[in-house]
Amino acid sequence: MLVFLALVTASLASAHPPSEPFEGHEVFRVQVEDENHLDVIRELASNYQIDFWKPDSVIQVQARSIVDFSVKAEDCVAVEDLLKQNKLQYEVLISNLRNEMEAQFDTWSRAAGHSYTKYNDWETIEAWTQQVANENPDLVSRSVIGTTFEGRPMYLLKVGKAKPNKPAIFMDCGFHAREWISPAFCQWFVREAVRTYGQEIHMTELLDELDFYVLPVVNIDGYVYTWTKDRMWRKTRSTQAGTSCVGTDPNRNFAAGWCEVGASTNPCSDTYCGPAPESEKETKALADFIRNNLSSIKAYLTFHSYSQMLLYPYSYTYNLPKNNVELNSLAKAAVKELASLHGTKYTYGPGASTIYLAAGGSDDWAYDQGIKYAFTFELRDRGRHGFLLPESQIRATCEETMLAVKLMAAYVLEHLY
Ligand SMILES: [Zn+2]
Repeated sequence: MLVFLALVTASLASAHPPSEPFEGHEVFRVQVEDENHLDVIRELASNYQIDFWKPDSVIQVQARSIVDFSVKAEDCVAVEDLLKQNKLQYEVLISNLRNEMEAQFDTWSRAAGHSYTKYNDWETIEAWTQQVANENPDLVSRSVIGTTFEGRPMYLLKVGKAKPNKPAIFMDCGFHAREWISPAFCQWFVREAVRTYGQEIHMTELLDELDFYVLPVVNIDGYVYTWTKDRMWRKTRSTQAGTSCVGTDPNRNFAAGWCEVGASTNPCSDTYCGPAPESEKETKALADFIRNNLSSIKAYLTFHSYSQMLLYPYSYTYNLPKNNVELNSLAKAAVKELASLHGTKYTYGPGASTIYLAAGGSDDWAYDQGIKYAFTFELRDRGRHGFLLPESQIRATCEETMLAVKLMAAYVLEHLY
């Protein structure tokens, strides 16, 4: 009997990413006031295995900012001592990463199959793309825009009522593997579209007049890796000669000030820009699709986490985009609409000044291709759970984000160009 139970437990648990390696890891939030503090953070990063959560890497840490990072169990005491000695103010956001990792799931044992209010693994999402297209043939069609480094097909869903010469909005999720709430939103969007078409007047108009291209997971290989090997993986899974380090940051891999600021040329870095722009099969496939459909694509929306921010170009320079005033007022209206449901507060503005300088991002690239409305969402939360947002928050997060997206889509429809 005991053996039987052990087997059952093992088979249920195997559906989740291994959490044991994160036993005792802590996530710190540190106030970086000045250059001296900055040196302390750099020292920590070079002496210990620090995983930066926000910003994305040590090179982006600035004075007068807040830094979130996780520390391995065996280094926690030393890190804390160093912070205290140098009088840096800090708090422990997560006291045991393993517990937090397990707590993101509503229940440890799960029924098989797709759910919009749970995190789905890639196999389940892949089957869902087929199913949602089959069940809604007049609204959803599925195509493949490329294959990943490991050979997985990249599915794109086109959502909208058939009509010639429609303008389109391109949306993608799952650039960074560990930001699980992002793919959950893309799935939710498609569900809401097919569920409310013909019932709700605004969605019906949007789908009659616009097509939405939805790429549910950009970095599929990375996403699979977060389910099977390392929940905290961020990059792609590409390998190259001359280094044993794996992966490129797909959101530093676009030809928009490529690798000039806020990105690393070190293949071992979490913000590695890759050997060349669009070196990754995933970013190349995405960019090719947008280039081939530039005449119809009027807006580009990309979904990340966490921070609760709505960002627009530029991130690779402090220069403001031409229609900065318009983008600012649209972002303002969108975050107000988002907050109306659950009171969730977002900040907004150009990426460089609102979050940090980062070159090679897809939103800047899309904007420079001529797509006037290009936005990056940083979804919930602000760091309490970080990348490990509990499943119990999927519904509320997606509902409020839908409001913002619908408002932005309606605006784009009224301002076609
Ligand atoms: Zn991201």
